[in-house]
Amino acid sequence: MSDVQSGQTEQSKSKHTANDLLEQVTSDEGNDEERLEIRVAELRHQIEEANYHYYVQDNPVLTDAEYDQYMIELQRIEQEHPELQTPDSPTQRVGAQPIQDVPQQRHPLPMLSLANARSEQELQDWQRRAQNILPNATFSYVCELKIDGLAMALTYDEGRLMIGATRGDGLVGENWTQNIRTIRTIPQKLRGDQIPPKVEVRGEIYMPIRDFERINAEMTDTSHLFANPRNAAAGSLRQKDSRVTATRRLSFFGYQIGYVDGMRITSHWDTLQLIRAWGFPVNPHIQMAHNLDEVMDYCQKWEKERFNLPYEIDGVVIKINDLAHQEELGTVARDPRWAIAFKYPPIQVATRLQDIRINIGRTGSVNPYAVLDPITIRGVTVSRAALHNEGDIQRKDLRIGDWVLVQRAGEVIPQVVKPVLERRTGNEEIYHLPDHCPYCGTAIERLEDQAMAYCPNKQCPERILQGVIHFVSKGAMDMETIGEKMSEQLVKAGYIKTLSDFYQLTEEQLLALEGVKKRSADTMLKSIETSKHRALWRLLFGLNIRYIGEKSAQIIASAFLSIDRLEQASAEEITAVPGIGPEIGQSVYNWFQDADNLALIERLRQAGLNMEEIVTEQTGPLTGQSFLLTGRLTSMTRSSAEEDIKRLGGKIATGVSKTLSHLVVGEDPGSKLAKAQKAGVAIHDEQWLIDLLQELNQQELNQ
Ligand code: NAD
Repeated sequence: MSDVQSGQTEQSKSKHTANDLLEQVTSDEGNDEERLEIRVAELRHQIEEANYHYYVQDNPVLTDAEYDQYMIELQRIEQEHPELQTPDSPTQRVGAQPIQDVPQQRHPLPMLSLANARSEQELQDWQRRAQNILPNATFSYVCELKIDGLAMALTYDEGRLMIGATRGDGLVGENWTQNIRTIRTIPQKLRGDQIPPKVEVRGEIYMPIRDFERINAEMTDTSHLFANPRNAAAGSLRQKDSRVTATRRLSFFGYQIGYVDGMRITSHWDTLQLIRAWGFPVNPHIQMAHNLDEVMDYCQKWEKERFNLPYEIDGVVIKINDLAHQEELGTVARDPRWAIAFKYPPIQVATRLQDIRINIGRTGSVNPYAVLDPITIRGVTVSRAALHNEGDIQRKDLRIGDWVLVQRAGEVIPQVVKPVLERRTGNEEIYHLPDHCPYCGTAIERLEDQAMAYCPNKQCPERILQGVIHFVSKGAMDMETIGEKMSEQLVKAGYIKTLSDFYQLTEEQLLALEGVKKRSADTMLKSIETSKHRALWRLLFGLNIRYIGEKSAQIIASAFLSIDRLEQASAEEITAVPGIGPEIGQSVYNWFQDADNLALIERLRQAGLNMEEIVTEQTGPLTGQSFLLTGRLTSMTRSSAEEDIKRLGGKIATGVSKTLSHLVVGEDPGSKLAKAQKAGVAIHDEQWLIDLLQELNQQELNQ
């Protein structure tokens, strides 16, 4: 927590209730001039307040989505009613004024913001406006990732870093040079021999996601958890003590030259190369585009891939490449006309925490989860989010009734980031984990020095159900036709009390279940039968042993090669396997000491399940044929498809060559498709593979 942040002011004391906010967003603006004026004043007030918390306190009280909604509404009203526009409106200004007790830095050239586009249409509109101003120009564009951090202007005199200043209100920023010097990726001295007498390099200071998570996890005063890496970067830079900044591992990407003396540069692309040559990191994913289609391809590609990056981006910045064009286009209000930000949908939304409930997991773990007022994040409705354990709930100080920030990044399950303390009313309820399991009434156990709590009852109906769902899942025994619903039906009907019961199921039992016809009963029985041949690691993973994930199951299976050997192993022997720690080793050992578990293994063995690691090469109907799978498969995982192919005698190739027999293409295939077409390899879709495997599995069963 910075000294700067802790400064309480009149503004920061003002509280919003969520209802106020929502009512204002949805209020009917009507045609009445007076009401419109009131609405404009109200919007400006809300935006100013939000700016203050965001830019000065580094602690937003609105999500970006809410903020953007206000801004869009204000822009729309001002556009439709130019008489209501004022020069001090937040639509005409950048950021917020710098705080007074930090040295101020007047920018020789204003630091602007960027206009936004949220669709291809808006991007085309931007291009058309530029083309209307320069009808004879042919534009090319530089596409850059829009790093979610804070803008920084770095001034170098004779190649030496003199000033590092934030954007502030665009005209005057805060001088944080001392702190900037602690950022290792910012050169103190420019490299190379093309050093101008004076230059201002601009770029983004950011915090990698891993460091943001670490800092929040280490935070002792959790009322000041950072909402996102951007706020963490700004809060870490704006510290009175530069030693604190030094511990925060901030980083930097250069993306522009503010001004330069005695040098002529003609394109933005060359600017980026020059910045790189001076020793600044320039984002490696910058790309030239020659038309808007190429720009859109870039935007779409990174919308999907952004979650694989080690830092957060909130869009793409598109800049017209020719600096002469840039100069002619100039600026409008707070934005240059020659650049635009293509913004991605927000990953963070605020909503109400209605309740906290618990699930019992497949190993008995007590897993609290948040019940939320449903909200849409990146097109998906979210009404539940996992909370790790009671300690985590207390650390974040989440209370029932709170407004919370919820995040959905990548395909990861939604997370509750933190409560919005400014929206607390005092009626929120502190949460405590129940003492007894809500499903079976057994006293919940908490192991000392462990954050997790457990329901120790092996017969707990919920634990059994979750264990069954996991056993049949794609990642474990992969009984493709039995999903969560069917597992629930089977457990409810009393057919499955323990995992080995799957192998005693009869057609009559299945037909007695609601909605099950002969055909689906047959396919279920077939997939149960097929599961008997699954690899050893899948069985180990499916047995619901505490701490055993897919990876550790694979390591253990290839170290011990059979259930028998694992059963005989000591805790030390298991722990000694590279990649298996003492916790996992002890847990596996304990599991095999339990008589009920040994009896289960015996029943599974009697049922004919494979209990050995398959190491010998298989022969079968696919012997002599090689396969390569590319792209995402939708109805099976790649590893289970490959296992099936290998079991049937086929080989999995490592790359495309003329000798490859089949390329199977899923969604979004990579370059292998083009290579295979060139090499004349047979190309098939996923359905072809499904049909082939089903037919061969069927033939095997009939033999
Ligand atoms: P912006 O963040 O939308 O875009 C301009 C900024 O992009 C630049 O100043 C620069 O810092 C950054 N940037 C990153 N990569 C860049 C690149 N390659 N090239 C050029 N610039 C790059 O605009 P803004 O004016 O800084 O902030 C407005 C946005 O901030 C809002 O849309 C909102 O999302 C957020 N905001 C939120 C709150 C809140 O309360 N939640 C309050 C204020 C602002």
